[in-house]
Amino acid sequence: MKCPNCNAELVQKKRDRIETEVCPSCEGMWLSCQELAQLEDEVFDFGDDKKGSLMFGFDASARKCPQCEAAMKSFQYRLYDLEMDFCEEGHGYWLEAGEDKRVLELMKKEEIDLGRKALAEDRFAAHLQFLRTGAFRDRLRDMAAAVLDRRSKPTF
Ligand SMILES: [Zn+2]
Ligand SMILES: [Zn+2]
Repeated sequence: MKCPNCNAELVQKKRDRIETEVCPSCEGMWLSCQELAQLEDEVFDFGDDKKGSLMFGFDASARKCPQCEAAMKSFQYRLYDLEMDFCEEGHGYWLEAGEDKRVLELMKKEEIDLGRKALAEDRFAAHLQFLRTGAFRDRLRDMAAAVLDRRSKPTF
């Protein structure tokens, strides 16, 4: 697969037990979706309301899915103020270089603030797995469709 940013060939890289595709040139990261049903509910115990509020700001992205070449949608992942692109066909997510490190730093800071012992690395690994669940992906797709549909209609 080719990098949606710079067209370099993505290379497989294991990060915290998770297989990712990383661009050796711009260091962006592709997370392909996996069917890991229920995992998000086991790892992240969000209420349904909160789940719905985790994503916002859907927009058309200039990047194309490395798997099917369809234009991706970009969205803001509110939990960690993370901007990501995703393929509506459910192939995966694209993270810009350094975004994963930034999230990890945020988690570490939170860990210190709350005096928690949970390792930020473990939580980040769980977080990445969470993004790959079918349930998360389906909800994201529904929300994007709803938001973009609303936007294309004239407002009075
Ligand atoms: Zn690249
Ligand atoms: Zn795709």
